[in-house]
Amino acid sequence: LQGIDHIGIAVRSIEETIGYYTEHLKMKHICTETIPRQGVRVAILDAGNCKIELLEPLTPESPVQTFLKKRGEGLHHIALKTAEMKQAMKEMEKEGIQFVQNEPQEGAMGKRVIFIHPRSSHGVLVELCEKR
Ligand code: ZN
Repeated sequence: LQGIDHIGIAVRSIEETIGYYTEHLKMKHICTETIPRQGVRVAILDAGNCKIELLEPLTPESPVQTFLKKRGEGLHHIALKTAEMKQAMKEMEKEGIQFVQNEPQEGAMGKRVIFIHPRSSHGVLVELCEKR
């Protein structure tokens, strides 16, 4: 592991939320991307030594929509920078850690991402992400 890559925050609307981060917290808006496979639109902000990822649901079936219904807006996941994701997954699976998906998926900014199942991570959704 190489530190925290970003912190994911679930929001109902990126448009209504982003100004708080850019105008008041003075974070730079890096990009906004749609990731249909994950049912989200994301906005990435530069928070200095780490990024903030605002997640807005694309559809009512989006996992982020389910999250918003259950828990409201707020902290959604922590993403850890991983150098050798496949290797890390193999080792963790041997140790009994479960993942939400079987294989890493395409995330924002061309990264490969996978989520550790909250069952295995004591209630905090943890994402592993790897630069390609
Ligand atoms: Zn993320």
